[in-house]
Amino acid sequence: MVGCRPSTFIIAVASRNCPKCQSTQIIKYGQTHYGKPRFRCQGCGRQFVEHATCQPLDETTR
Ligand SMILES: [Zn+2]
Repeated sequence: MVGCRPSTFIIAVASRNCPKCQSTQIIKYGQTHYGKPRFRCQGCGRQFVEHATCQPLDETTR
């Protein structure tokens, strides 16, 4: 695995609460290009995906 780097955008969320504000007000927010469900915190607006693994973040850099 080369190019694997932790990101503040993608965080493994086991309990499905906001990694930033710990809110449980999480809504489903579409999915990534990789087919993984994406979530958004209604409290702070943070977006994240669940069980993210090492993968490029081209959707944020394109
Ligand atoms: Zn939040």
